[in-house]
Amino acid sequence: MNRIMQKIEHIGIAVNSLEKSIPLFEQLLGTLCYKTESIKSENVNTAFFKTGDSKIELIEGSAEGSVIQQFIEKKGEGIHHIAFATENIEAEIKRLKSLGFEFIQDIPKKGADNKLICFLRPKSTNGVLVELCQEIV
Ligand code: ZN
Repeated sequence: MNRIMQKIEHIGIAVNSLEKSIPLFEQLLGTLCYKTESIKSENVNTAFFKTGDSKIELIEGSAEGSVIQQFIEKKGEGIHHIAFATENIEAEIKRLKSLGFEFIQDIPKKGADNKLICFLRPKSTNGVLVELCQEIV
């Protein structure tokens, strides 16, 4: 079997305010935020930190009623999703669907950090929101 889920690419954390949380995570991780990015289609702003081979992605809602805002209203700030790097996201979606996993959307879309992404339904993964991502080259 080839390496399908290559590594944990990043962990996404929902926060109320990037302005407050970026300095906090810079202190926590001892490294500077290397990129911020707004994803208009998702109504989120994101900030990235490198931690060894993986990353931390802070996410704040940028508009009323964004999914991140809804998440925080329901569960509070905290871990939102785990993202796994894949070499071939299409093949991976096919593989997982054939095993009965459900996806929020079947067709990968462009996400933050120059990636194609898609999310599995948490009800098919023990309540964990799992993101698959593939670097766009
Ligand atoms: Zn993510």
